[in-house]
Amino acid sequence: MSVPDAALVWFRLDLRLRDNPAWRAAAALGGPVVPVYIWAPQEDGAWPPGAASRWWLHRSLAALQASLEAQGLRLILRRGPSAAALLRLARATGATQVVWNRRPEPAARRRDAAVAAALERQGLRVASFAEATLYEPGTVAGRAPERPLRVFTAFWRAAQRLPPPARPQPAPRAVAGPARWPASLPLAALGLLPRPPWADGWDRLWRPGEAGALAALRRFRARLARYPAGRDRLAESATSVLSPHLHFGEISVRQAWHAAAGAHGEAFRRQLGWRDFGAHLLWHFPHSPEEPLQPRFAAFPWRDDPAGLRAWQRGRTGYPLVDAAMRQLWRTGWMHNRARMVAGSFLVKHLRLPWQEGARWFWDTLVDADLANNTLGWQWTAGCGADAAPYFRIFNPERQQRRFDPDQAYIRRWLPELRPGAGAGNYPPPIVAHAAARRAALAAFARLRGA
Ligand SMILES: Cc1cc2nc3c(=O)[nH]c(=O)nc-3n(C[C@H](O)[C@H](O)[C@H](O)COP(=O)(O)OP(=O)(O)OC[C@H]3O[C@@H](n4cnc5c(N)ncnc54)[C@H](O)[C@@H]3O)c2cc1C
Repeated sequence: MSVPDAALVWFRLDLRLRDNPAWRAAAALGGPVVPVYIWAPQEDGAWPPGAASRWWLHRSLAALQASLEAQGLRLILRRGPSAAALLRLARATGATQVVWNRRPEPAARRRDAAVAAALERQGLRVASFAEATLYEPGTVAGRAPERPLRVFTAFWRAAQRLPPPARPQPAPRAVAGPARWPASLPLAALGLLPRPPWADGWDRLWRPGEAGALAALRRFRARLARYPAGRDRLAESATSVLSPHLHFGEISVRQAWHAAAGAHGEAFRRQLGWRDFGAHLLWHFPHSPEEPLQPRFAAFPWRDDPAGLRAWQRGRTGYPLVDAAMRQLWRTGWMHNRARMVAGSFLVKHLRLPWQEGARWFWDTLVDADLANNTLGWQWTAGCGADAAPYFRIFNPERQQRRFDPDQAYIRRWLPELRPGAGAGNYPPPIVAHAAARRAALAAFARLRGA
């Protein structure tokens, strides 16, 4: 009996071995399997991974390397261009097939189509799998499929009429590697870690990789009952904090979905639905990371205010909830969803700075920076998205704080200046007055409506 040819598995944002369709498919071929990761930020269009994401990626690749090595396998690291790197590896290993999981980002879709064509021209077989979302982008549609659904509730209703998300599959057992491994770059050669090493303390906060993701999911399951009532309270750890693990594919969204069965899980599953909705919108509207989904917003009279932008980025606006949120982001690479909504709203409404500036800052500083979710979040916050809060609903940061951080635990955690006894002398006065900023935002919006 002849041994089947080798297959390459091209890992991207699916850095795990359990419930990974490409990994399973390659293992099922029965021949040697060569796991590959190619660092090719030039292929991500305008959105190569930001600094916080690169830190996470380094740690996540190290974790994947370790779990492969525990099975006698390796993770081969190369630099892009991806097509050339895969072709060279196929030649070096005698692989005749390349498999991967598909992505919804526009640049990834273009790149993958070009890579598939280049590989096929050289006689290689390629296979790709839908796995990044609960429902494959493009498959959830209403009565008129030519008009993509733009409202979350309609999208979610249509999605729930489809068969439920598949049960997660275990990792395949006993995967064989090639007799001779091709050369790999050392992980450090990818230059992903920041210099100077500002993220050093993050190793105490985060555990990137599949084992860390599964541990986070287990911890969350134990407190799932608190999620529906607690998810908006800023100082409570009621949400899952799975977002970076889901972004890097260290657990699959199906694993998260099936872990949250029962009445308490409904609210959480709905948030996973928002994640699917983000991918759906990005898939149908590939220009949405840069351009408002409501075209009239292209004429919005945004201000140009570098000092205001800097104050927002540094958490020095004089609005405690906004500043606590921005410092949580800077210190940890993550921010609570309610805080993202309030801090984002402050940028686009109180300061009237373009939502794209906020999206860029989040992109660079979030460990869960995700093109679909970040675009959805910012367009929603700015009021220019498909299913956005109306522009004239302007969050009052002080009222939000009284409601969602009533005992000030969140703002005191992130703003040491405001702790009792600290003498708030160091804390800046508000850079804009709420009432005047609100009036100015509404006037700008009214002009837009008249336009
Ligand atoms: C301005 C703005 C920017 C955002 N940028 C991002 C981003 O870059 N990456 C990102 O993953 N999320 C983003 N979000 C969505 C949301 O804030 C985070 O997903 C959430 O705070 C992550 O925390 P969690 O894992 O504890 O969420 P949980 O409440 O435990 O939710 C579980 C999962 O569902 C998904 N999810 C939850 N809420 C949303 C949502 N509103 N939209 C899309 N998916 C959601 C996430 O994958 C999350 O991990 C943004 C929201 C706003 C308002």
